[in-house]
Amino acid sequence: MALERVSKILKMADEANTSVIAFNCINYDMAYSAIAVAEQLQKPVLIMLYPEHNYAFNNADIKGFAEMVKALAAKVKIPIGLHLDHSSDFNYIMRAVKDGFTSVMFDGSMMPLEENIRLSRKIVEVARNFDVDVEAELGHVGFAKESDEENLDMYTKPDVAAEFCEATGVSSVAVAIGSAHGVYLEAPKLDLLRLNEINEATDVPLVLHGGSGIPNDQLEIAFTKGINKFNVGTEYFQLYYDSMHEYIETHKEERNVNLLFEMSKYVQGKLKDYLREKMKLSKF
Ligand SMILES: [Zn+2]
Repeated sequence: MALERVSKILKMADEANTSVIAFNCINYDMAYSAIAVAEQLQKPVLIMLYPEHNYAFNNADIKGFAEMVKALAAKVKIPIGLHLDHSSDFNYIMRAVKDGFTSVMFDGSMMPLEENIRLSRKIVEVARNFDVDVEAELGHVGFAKESDEENLDMYTKPDVAAEFCEATGVSSVAVAIGSAHGVYLEAPKLDLLRLNEINEATDVPLVLHGGSGIPNDQLEIAFTKGINKFNVGTEYFQLYYDSMHEYIETHKEERNVNLLFEMSKYVQGKLKDYLREKMKLSKF
């Protein structure tokens, strides 16, 4: 089927009292594997592109990426969503919208609250004309390597979240409750009490970033307390890298170009094994 609205998939997740998993992908192997496993398990999935990878490394053409995910989604029967991850650049977001992204994240979490509200609302107003959903971030989800100490000031406050959602009209909001991007130095402890309060104070689906390395028991609780979108990047990238490394190491004595053509199939197999396990958390 055609791409599904991310807001609709998050609504389905909310009704099922669970979360859809959103995987950061850079290419066909990663997007195809996630969609193939989703179809196998009959669960929706979201494919995300992280703009900074494109700024810095030209990993994917943004329009080409959107077209690729659309073509993959057209071949399956389960709902597939396409989402642009963190960007605070209005022009980049608008380009992504024009190029076919049906959901975008505006990250104003490092800005003063008033500015975050003003710009999030502006993006929502424009995106609405294109039937595009907008995720914002409130509080700040930092980087795991920097946040070994809890910084409660950065955590999302329930009353502010309510005010923010009301004032901006966003379709979903990423909350800071103790997760972080990257590799954790020690297992994080989500502030589930705070999550519960945010969930009671707001009506919009909540998003959990920094999903690589959070213990499953905490995730299972978080998914029943308002987290309807769960972002996984680091873990999936690491596995992709490790699988390629392993393949090359295994064949390092050979110099045969056919090995190049066979690599995708090998890597996709590894990714699918991981995805089948990971997506068990998503209880549709
Ligand atoms: Zn994030």
